[in-house]
Amino acid sequence: MAKVLVINCGSSSLKYQLIDMDHESVLAKGLCERIGIEGSKLTHNPAGKPSYEKECDMKDHRVAVEMVLAALQDPEHGVIEHADEISAIGHRVLHGGTVYSDSIVVDADVKRVIRECFDLGPLHNPANLIGIEACEAAMPGKPNVAVFDTAFGMSMPEKAYMYAIPHEYYEKYGIRRYGFHGTSHKFVSGEAIRYANLDPEKAKVIVCHLGNGSSVSASIGGKCVDTSMGLTPLEGLIMGTRSGDLDPAVVQFICNKEGIDVNEMLNILNKKSGFLGMTNGLSSDNRDVSQAAKDGNPLAKVAIEAAHYRTAKYIGAYTAAMNGVDAIVFTAGIGENDADTRIGVCQYLGYLGVELDAEKVKVRGERMVISTPNSKVKVMVIPTNEELAIARETKEIVGC
Ligand code: ADP
Repeated sequence: MAKVLVINCGSSSLKYQLIDMDHESVLAKGLCERIGIEGSKLTHNPAGKPSYEKECDMKDHRVAVEMVLAALQDPEHGVIEHADEISAIGHRVLHGGTVYSDSIVVDADVKRVIRECFDLGPLHNPANLIGIEACEAAMPGKPNVAVFDTAFGMSMPEKAYMYAIPHEYYEKYGIRRYGFHGTSHKFVSGEAIRYANLDPEKAKVIVCHLGNGSSVSASIGGKCVDTSMGLTPLEGLIMGTRSGDLDPAVVQFICNKEGIDVNEMLNILNKKSGFLGMTNGLSSDNRDVSQAAKDGNPLAKVAIEAAHYRTAKYIGAYTAAMNGVDAIVFTAGIGENDADTRIGVCQYLGYLGVELDAEKVKVRGERMVISTPNSKVKVMVIPTNEELAIARETKEIVGC
């Protein structure tokens, strides 16, 4: 029985899932928090057993991986008898630059590229590499697979990924659109094609991944042709705390008026904008903002309307880019749960012949076609599952 351990490392956290690939079922999942900080804690959720928390010193990710392995093999809370039962480890890696358009078994070259991309993913890539090296140390000889968040975007044509700035910046620094949430977009578009019986070679699919971070992708036959995030995850839709698209001159204007530097301004655009900024600090969370909008808060109302409007504009642009669309898919926290967002976005899409089913549109967290049989475009909800996507890629590459 193939079992794949999926690891997603942040700078002070490590999320994991052990997945039985024969049944694609989660055997256990959990989280190590505050790694390298006082008060570190492991939360372990074995399937069918009570969850278990342990506060213990985790001075680095290597210790965290050892704690995870111990929890997985624990006589009481464990789900395996021996770490040898793990066939391979799949790692979420943020940035693979232009080098990797697919997942790959980690070797010295792969680690070099992940390191070379530290500039492009300064918060994530160093942590991702630490996670890989921690697993190499704790489970010598086991294959580690890197699954890149940017890989899906590598099939975009130049006209979609080139910014209209002097070419030398592309040549010198690789400044281009990369796109993120790639693992989710690939998984969800693939599932949508299968679920709705669309042509696997030709289906034109737009996926709206709407969560704290949000992005839209357009793909033909499962290959990405455009996506809304850019060099970094800041571009595109209005998000929980990120502004998305913006006239770059705003940066200079505010810096000059407020006496702040570009770094501080970028911090504002990444962490204090989006829903949070538009509502004057009320909340970055869609539920809070939409409730406030319903209660009559005018700023919240505009924030919600603007988020729906911008998503609809991207759908329009991507329909033009593909000269048509067969399916529009909603996924991630907001897309999977919030009927108001689906209705709010689709109200702009009557011209495409989109017609929502008044009952099905209310579905939560379940895969479903939410458009009517007469709708010219299928609208669907497909829950994303990045861990399963990583585990599937890992299994396929390792052949376990
Ligand atoms: P992340 O990008 O951090 O993975 P998620 O995909 O979990 O984020 O999405 C989080 C967002 O989903 C939050 O804005 C939250 O308000 C929203 N959300 C979750 N459940 C619901 C719900 N039932 N109704 C409306 N919004 C929801």
